[in-house]
Amino acid sequence: MAQSSVQRVAVVGGGIAGLTAALRLAESGYQVDVFEAAPALGGRTKSFYDEDVDEWVDNGPHAMVGAYHATLKLLGDVGALQNVSWQSSLTLSLWDTQRSLFDLKAASWLPVNLALIWAVYRLPDHDFSSVKAMLRLAMTMMNRGDTQTVQQWMDEIDAPAILVQDMLEVLCLGVMNEPMQTANAKTFARVLATSFSSHKNAKMGWFNKPLSQALVAPMADKLRGLGVNMVLRHSVRSLDELDHDAVVLALPAFARNRLLGIKQDVDTQAITNIHLWFEENLNLPNMMQGMLGTYGQWLFDVSKMMGQTTGFHHVCMIISADETELSQAALIDTALQEIETLLGRALPEPKKTRFIREKRATVLVRNQENLDLSEHVFLACESPTPGELPATIELAVISGEKAVHELLHWDKSHKN
Ligand SMILES: Cc1cc2nc3c(=O)[nH]c(=O)nc-3n(C[C@H](O)[C@H](O)[C@H](O)COP(=O)(O)OP(=O)(O)OC[C@H]3O[C@@H](n4cnc5c(N)ncnc54)[C@H](O)[C@@H]3O)c2cc1C
Repeated sequence: MAQSSVQRVAVVGGGIAGLTAALRLAESGYQVDVFEAAPALGGRTKSFYDEDVDEWVDNGPHAMVGAYHATLKLLGDVGALQNVSWQSSLTLSLWDTQRSLFDLKAASWLPVNLALIWAVYRLPDHDFSSVKAMLRLAMTMMNRGDTQTVQQWMDEIDAPAILVQDMLEVLCLGVMNEPMQTANAKTFARVLATSFSSHKNAKMGWFNKPLSQALVAPMADKLRGLGVNMVLRHSVRSLDELDHDAVVLALPAFARNRLLGIKQDVDTQAITNIHLWFEENLNLPNMMQGMLGTYGQWLFDVSKMMGQTTGFHHVCMIISADETELSQAALIDTALQEIETLLGRALPEPKKTRFIREKRATVLVRNQENLDLSEHVFLACESPTPGELPATIELAVISGEKAVHELLHWDKSHKN
């Protein structure tokens, strides 16, 4: 066995996966260089300054659930736990044109699975058939095949259309960023099983500062303190450029393939965010409003999430798995009309609108072929397989930590 021992490690990619890997490597005593192609760290959890509204703006607001255990541990380790706010218990605030506003609210005095079934039963227009379908859903979670879609699973349990519309489709689009017709049932089942295993895991959280301050800056500060070298505006084009003892690739699968010269398509989905600023407070009924039967699926009151009481009122309409062919202008008009219908009144002219479509917002859950890599290269790449978590902050943190774990193991086996 070779007698090499790893001292210098290159981390390619300065998103959450790369920063997590760098942190855990530095804590283990390695010298770490992070190479990031963009002018700033953070990857898809990035914010930019908009001088028209004098505000730091996230490309898209990010939500979490209590089941993001690895992310919460990480936030604690970098002293940033206070940058996330939480619901007291799971509440999905929903709206549609027929039934207006209603909540799916898990009563905290019941065990969470019973609380959810009770909450569904109490939704307008639901009856015992929704309850029976929820029970069938719970009983069939564990044995989903690798290739089954969420739609096929819903057909198998004969889920009533109204249950699909009010809960399962909303959750599928929100967490998988993919329509039920193609989204992977095994991964969806895993998300439901982990999120709905306790009240604590089920509740939703949100960042109460822009992501660059809430998440990225605390991580970068910690890395600097540990002596990690962070090189911005440096796109690594080939592994031959790096003379490090080991390399962690922390890139979404399509960027990894580009770097490794692998000619293989990677399925991704877009997310569109329509940011709107108004001179007056719109007084939205809820901070995170799920919308049913509309283009926009969620309407976030960003000002409220950030606890802002002065300046313009900032709201953001989110369209997951966005495949629409409408133009930007048409989508902004549609968003404004949908908010007017929700509020039942005409809206004032927005002070500013900003349309952000992340074309490759997430890599979709797919079976992957094994890559033939040199033994000193470790992957923390967004490339979720059936049964793994979908592309989220939590997956990024777990991937970064898993790559470091493998590297430590490899290094140890070389030292012995
Ligand atoms: C609009 C939007 C909304 C989202 N909402 C949520 C949400 O609500 N909840 C949630 O959990 N997740 C959400 N996500 C997903 C989440 O942001 C991502 O899954 C996560 O941030 C991925 O982190 P990463 O480090 O794996 O990848 P990235 O953040 O993509 O980081 C990879 C980094 O590598 C850099 N890079 C690429 N190629 C090279 C190269 N050759 N050399 C050097 N650097 C390179 C890139 O510039 C990038 O900074 C959302 C994503 C988007 C886009």
